Amino acid sequence: MIGIHSFDVIVVGAGHAGCEAAHAAAHMGAVTLLLTQNLDTIGQMSCNPAIGGLGKGHLVREIDALGGLMGSLADQAGIHFRLLNRSKGPAVRGPRAQMDKVDYRREVRTALEMTPNLILRQGEALRLIIEGGSVRGIMTDWGHACYASAVILTTGTFLRGLAHIGERTFPAGRLGDQPSQSLSDDLRQTLGLDLIRLKTGTPPRLEGRTIDWSRFEPQPGENPPLPFSFMTEKIDRPQVACHIGYTNHKTHELILNNLHRAPLYSGQIKGIGPRYCPSIEDKVVRFGDRDRHQIFLEPEGWRTTEIYPNGISTSLPIDIQLELIHSMDGLERTEILRPGYAIEYDMVDPIQLHDTLAVKGVDGLYLAGQINGSTGYEEAAAQGLAAGIQAARFHANLEPVRFDRSQSYMGVMIDDLITKGVDEPYRMFTSRAEFRLLLRIDNADTRLTPLGREIGLVDDSRWAKFQNKMEAICNARSELHSTKIVLGHSDSANAREKKSAWDWLRGEVISSADLFEQVGLNHLDAELLNVLEVEARYEGYLQRQQEEVLRYRKAELVELPQDLDWLNISGLSKELQQKWHKVRPRTLGQAYRVPGATPAAISVLIIHLKSRIGKATPNP
Ligand code: FAD
Repeated sequence: MIGIHSFDVIVVGAGHAGCEAAHAAAHMGAVTLLLTQNLDTIGQMSCNPAIGGLGKGHLVREIDALGGLMGSLADQAGIHFRLLNRSKGPAVRGPRAQMDKVDYRREVRTALEMTPNLILRQGEALRLIIEGGSVRGIMTDWGHACYASAVILTTGTFLRGLAHIGERTFPAGRLGDQPSQSLSDDLRQTLGLDLIRLKTGTPPRLEGRTIDWSRFEPQPGENPPLPFSFMTEKIDRPQVACHIGYTNHKTHELILNNLHRAPLYSGQIKGIGPRYCPSIEDKVVRFGDRDRHQIFLEPEGWRTTEIYPNGISTSLPIDIQLELIHSMDGLERTEILRPGYAIEYDMVDPIQLHDTLAVKGVDGLYLAGQINGSTGYEEAAAQGLAAGIQAARFHANLEPVRFDRSQSYMGVMIDDLITKGVDEPYRMFTSRAEFRLLLRIDNADTRLTPLGREIGLVDDSRWAKFQNKMEAICNARSELHSTKIVLGHSDSANAREKKSAWDWLRGEVISSADLFEQVGLNHLDAELLNVLEVEARYEGYLQRQQEEVLRYRKAELVELPQDLDWLNISGLSKELQQKWHKVRPRTLGQAYRVPGATPAAISVLIIHLKSRIGKATPNP
């Protein structure tokens, strides 16, 4: 390490988790070192050049609402924006955008370099310095020790990373990058942590100048593009189209004939891959009745001809990859710029973490991102932000922030990871959130910006904008409630009744645009009107979900003693005793969410608690 050796917080790794973690900790006042193997790959998108999507878009909005980086940087670097599920209910809509990969990296680096208290250095963390059950710092490959009260590890796919291309394997964090070997051994041997081996894969990248574009259906982005960030007024950089194509019978036959050379099927890969993001060889085997699979040709940037063929992730040998590409309509003469590959890596079983993402039994050590078994830039960034906040507060001797399931997708993800663990790479879906009607993309700021302000992440300009928006929503809501109107021009008999504009909006007799015009609110921002429309249309459902949240919170308020001897609570199955012992749930609600917990087991637990501490334990 060059220069200073003592910091408040050290973040290891500058992927999506590390960048958010370092930015948040520094922004909250902690002198923060961001140490990464290569400064040129800060914010690198290892796989697809896109941010957001279903569930993932919610995470980006939440990061933004808290004052994090990803949303506004994606708005700067985006070249193709879409709102997925636009025609479906408001809970499941997801913003997604293609990035110019190089621009995204540049935006991240600039944002970090402009963050006060943040020091960037190139180097590798070889091991942790631990003293008396607390982390004290790291040893680097420069031969120096760096000290801090909190360390956040965000090593992604790099821990003992092993790349596979056909029969060939070689150590790598991702193609072109060295893995992190010794840190993995340190976590296992020195700290005694349980590690799990996972796998993920990526498609070959194609030379766009050798594609016959006339054979593909163009898919333009939306106009106007919907920004991720609540702070972005407008996206005005030029946008590009993606293209849709298909695999065919020839492609599938080729894959089936060469399965013995696929590391996934030859037994060469031991790690578990994501079921919902399968390789093309997996798709062809698992869905044998399908005669084609869709692929999207996504540009890797604005100033490059490199193309990401989304949907054909593969680790087949290069000669087969080339044949596979040539088997598809429009790609007969296409050249491969970089091969597809799979990567196996170590991750830490996240049930060994507290809900603060701190490692149980090691004060001050936090883990975030792919190291916790998640996959995806957004999942990593959201955990990074959470870990950065907790580490800065730990350093300042402040209470941790609790992200709960009723407040954010971040809370859902963290709770899922630490309570259920992972048996395959964890990715966010809207179906994971039980209160998803309350956790919408349109209200991420209402849910989280006040918290971001309270902890020192939301700056004055964001706060002023948020307050103005809240005031405008409040005024418009009362206007809608107090304005009584008759819808004279509608055919419906009900329309001749005199009702409040709010009730008309709720009843869906008239389009929201017409109604806002009648009440004179159509000059307001579209996003703001969307909030009002959703609130009115789903009022009954929202109220019911709020009642469920109250029940959920009641169980979350019952904190469990941390010295409970879980293995000796009689009346429980051995299996559940062991699961609870491993997870060590913090609250009664969390105990209930551990897989295998039943209402009867919870009753046994409550009786046990009452016998321990008398009748003072509240009823759930
Ligand atoms: P990363 O982005 O991996 O960043 C880790 C950082 O830590 C790097 O900067 C690295 O240099 C640094 N580092 C590691 N060890 C050390 C050390 N000891 N000292 C200093 N620095 C260190 N996601 C999807 O959602 N869908 C996919 O289909 C998909 N496919 C993928 C395919 C491949 C081949 C790869 C490699 C990744 C894929 N991903 C996919 C995963 C996606 O890239 C990650 O989820 C995301 O990048 C994780 O972010 P992170 O911040 O946790 O880690």
